[in-house]
Amino acid sequence: MTETLTQNEPDAAWQDDVRQGVRHVRDLDRLPLSSGERAAAQEAAAHHKVRAPKAYLDLIDWNDPADPIRAQIIPSPAELDAAEGELDDPIGDHAFSPVPRLTHRHADRVLLFPTYQCAVYCRFCFRKESLTSIGRGYTRAALEPALAYIAAHPEIREVILTGGDPLSLPDAALAEIRARVEAIAHVRLLRIHTRVPVALPSRITPGLVEALQGRLMVTVVTHFNHAREITPATETACRLLRQAGFVLLNQSVLLKGVNDSVEALEELCRELMYRLGVKPYYLHHGDLARGMAHRRTTIAQGQALVEALRARLSGICNPVYVIDLPEGGGKVPLGPCHVEAHDGEHWRLRGLDGEARDYREIVGAGDNRSSKDPTAGS
Ligand code: SF4
Repeated sequence: MTETLTQNEPDAAWQDDVRQGVRHVRDLDRLPLSSGERAAAQEAAAHHKVRAPKAYLDLIDWNDPADPIRAQIIPSPAELDAAEGELDDPIGDHAFSPVPRLTHRHADRVLLFPTYQCAVYCRFCFRKESLTSIGRGYTRAALEPALAYIAAHPEIREVILTGGDPLSLPDAALAEIRARVEAIAHVRLLRIHTRVPVALPSRITPGLVEALQGRLMVTVVTHFNHAREITPATETACRLLRQAGFVLLNQSVLLKGVNDSVEALEELCRELMYRLGVKPYYLHHGDLARGMAHRRTTIAQGQALVEALRARLSGICNPVYVIDLPEGGGKVPLGPCHVEAHDGEHWRLRGLDGEARDYREIVGAGDNRSSKDPTAGS
């Protein structure tokens, strides 16, 4: 039997958010869409599931057809236009999956997929092809090969619960997964990648926090994309996670029509840090998920945005703009690069004011350590 959100404590207040939200294509009938919009949304929803809790739907301004929350969850007919070169598995999860429900791309960390279900289905999701299959919720048995693999690989230090959304699982299932992972002595860090604090903040309860507390350092990586998602309820949720001692980071996706302006990104990053205590970590360039060309910017547009952000925001508020390369090439930074020229010890570097300045390296000549390869071990 698989376990899902609705199998948690039956009287939990947040369950009203789930029940009164959109859970099936037929629930789109309850939304204030024109008949044409509804028909188009229903057609698109047949290709990528639709789900949104009431609390998240309530953030939408239905008078604004370009509302940034709406753009993230209401299916669009543009999703049906797959562009040449778009991919089912944009970052190569499958090629690096030695056992089911686990991806091992980098030596010291693995992705663990306890569930392929989410509290909210985002139209831009780069794993949406994995989420379409039914019957891929959490079961103890389904995770056994992945846990055995982690136990057999002492180089693994970090386990990243992702999916699907791990926080869409019941507390008991989370506690069990956490206990199984922390029983593997070489694992040092448990990371949780989740949209629940954004779309269903009432789900962040003392019971959920307790389920995650144990031997391991816990990092919760949230996924806010717009400042409008930051509300009193998300403040409460993040405060609870912070007070538990968890490290909070955020990754956003750069989405055309949602957050592709300096003003939108600046407000998002400031509110994350100042109001939620969540460090902006990554700004992802849009992955090559199928049917998402209408939400992708060019890389040059992204670079111009982050260059402007770099000049406006402090280091702690600035995310790193990255692209997750196809075929498992990993996340690589896209800039900005402030090096204009380099010749030996002479560098020409562009400042945050746009002016280039010369910089000459001065390194102690008598110190033998300076000639050593810095990447070599001692
Ligand atoms: S919550 Fe995460 S995994 Fe689920 S649809 Fe959204 S982006 Fe994808």
